[in-house]
Parts: sequence; C-alpha cells; structure tokens
Amino acid sequence: MSDDIVARMRQSHRVGCDCVGCDAADEIERLRRDYSCICGEMRRMMDERDEARWRLCKVVGDNRGVWGCEIAKENGWDYLATEAKP
Ligand SMILES: [Zn+2]
Repeated sequence: MSDDIVARMRQSHRVGCDCVGCDAADEIERLRRDYSCICGEMRRMMDERDEARWRLCKVVGDNRGVWGCEIAKENGWDYLATEAKP
C-alpha cells in the first residue's frame, strides 16, 4: 500500500466520486501544487536577493577600497551565499 495519503484516500473510490474524502484528496493535490509553486518562487526571489546583495557589496566595497565580504558582514549578510554569484 502506498504511504501517500492522497493515493490511500483514492484507493477505494472511482473517478467522479463526489464523497467528502475525494473532495479532500482533490484539495490536498491543489494545495501541493500551490506549495510547489510558492517554493519555486521563493527560491527564485532568494537568488535575486543574493545577487542584489552581492552587487551592492561589490560596488560599496570597491568605493571604500575594502572587500565585499566586509560590507556583507556590516549588514549581517552571509557572504558565502552571495559569493558564488557572477
Ligand atoms: Zn470518494
């Protein structure tokens, strides 16, 4: 038996069944899709944020004649997250 809750809920139900269990399974699937989209968007935004931080650290660091990691430290940012960016 599958340990996926949706598969288990659907096991004894036909396509088109309108019981509350099948409605719940549909809702769980919809929420899983939404969650997956939100996680993808969050990763994309974190990458964008890290790149913006990296650029700011480089520009400010170049202006002051210090390494970007010093600027990151001043702002409480993890420079390792930004270091791998172009
Ligand atoms: Zn059902």
